[in-house]
Amino acid sequence: MSKQIPLKVVDGGNLYESAPKIYPREIDGRFQRLRTLAVWVLLGLFYLMPWLNWDGRQAVLFDLPARKFYILGLSFWPQDFVFLALLLMIAAFALFFFTALAGRLWCGYACPQTVWTEVFIAIERWCEGDRGKQMKLDAAPWTREKILRKSAKHSLWLIFALWTGFTFVGFFTPIRTLAQEAATLSLGGWEWFWTLFYSFATWGNAGFLREQVCKYMCPYARFQGAMFDRDTLIIAYDTERGEPRGSRRKGVPSVLELPRLADGAFADGDPKQGDCIDCTICVQVCPTGIDIRDGLQYECIACGACVDACDSVMDKIGYPRGLVRYATLNSLEHKTPHVIRPRIIIYGLILLTLIGSFTYAVFNRTPLLVDVLRDRNALYRIATDGGVENAYTFKIVNKDVVAHHFAIRISEGGTDLTLHTHVDEIVVAAEGVANVAVTVSAAADKARGQREITFEVHALDSDMQRTQKSRFFGPS
Ligand code: SF4
Ligand code: SF4
Repeated sequence: MSKQIPLKVVDGGNLYESAPKIYPREIDGRFQRLRTLAVWVLLGLFYLMPWLNWDGRQAVLFDLPARKFYILGLSFWPQDFVFLALLLMIAAFALFFFTALAGRLWCGYACPQTVWTEVFIAIERWCEGDRGKQMKLDAAPWTREKILRKSAKHSLWLIFALWTGFTFVGFFTPIRTLAQEAATLSLGGWEWFWTLFYSFATWGNAGFLREQVCKYMCPYARFQGAMFDRDTLIIAYDTERGEPRGSRRKGVPSVLELPRLADGAFADGDPKQGDCIDCTICVQVCPTGIDIRDGLQYECIACGACVDACDSVMDKIGYPRGLVRYATLNSLEHKTPHVIRPRIIIYGLILLTLIGSFTYAVFNRTPLLVDVLRDRNALYRIATDGGVENAYTFKIVNKDVVAHHFAIRISEGGTDLTLHTHVDEIVVAAEGVANVAVTVSAAADKARGQREITFEVHALDSDMQRTQKSRFFGPS
């Protein structure tokens, strides 16, 4: 017989239960200061970077129409796709490595969702006050003050979101041109679209969705468990020290100060009260609205706000800090922690190898590409003097930001061959492409059958050079 599953009916019959708004309480402390620093550094980089110039060009520009990326003096062309692949692999393994080592560092301090939400929450507090005032304001009827406060908040959010959208587009279109166009409202259709789209996304994600992005939309929250083990640092409540929780009289010593026997047991029997005074401040400051005392939960973004909150409570009542702290499951159970373990070594070695390869490849790449195409119409032609000629077209790509002078020669397989070009020096403009017609000839008696030859294109004004293999054909 099938068993009926009861459905939870909420909101007068609506099966969708809207998430209650979370009002995180303001907190100061070590980790909050670290988060504020991260916000300043990361947003500073984001908003300033497109305005910096390098070699007379925007320092960071992803020029999609031209299919070229410029990053601090380096230019990447479509042929450099391998660098992008390497960068993505570095990002993935860095995430694995740091998550296995120290939990959700990324979520708590560097994720764009966290960073922008911090700013939106700061603006909200500035306009509406801290947690208590916000809750009161939301519950109050619409008065002049409420309208003014809400309007101020949304206006500031909107300005910040528009500035964010504009900056984002400024990474793809030269930002100074974009600013001039924005000032005269003459932005192109796509520029309007992406500026408004990204502004709207910022406003919605950081202003309204906030922790729901982490809880329901972010895939990382779901698979992070696979990277955790009992030696991964997590934010944890020390149940052994904190329970049984409850309010207490003044002067009761901390559990940590009670006399213990050699085996660790309490000399006077288990304490009737733990160190948690059940003030719930750790819950009030949590941006995802969870109670860390319920144990490790996937909603926890490891922001450390509850650590700061509980430390401040412990300071006030004169107890040692650390009832809520960064800890590993093993250390909470008094087992020996293992920071260096196989997965850390494997992730670390792969990460180092990838970073090493990327650095070596970037700094040793030649900004010169050469393609050699044989004449498709004829394998060879017989010259008036009876000699044999083969025709080629060279495509020389100069990816450098300055022009270069090049010459071509046959470096292998052609001591008896002669190379002819229309010019001795081929000038290729900065980031330019030159198509050069080349003829290679041989005396009739030296041109039997086919052979492999190697062309070398080298710069006359630098040490850039490239070789390309091709074939020389004669009568069989
Ligand atoms: S802040 Fe500390 S003392 Fe207060 S409820 Fe949380 S864990 Fe207990
Ligand atoms: S439980 Fe603590 S560390 Fe986790 S999200 Fe909430 S406040 Fe941040």
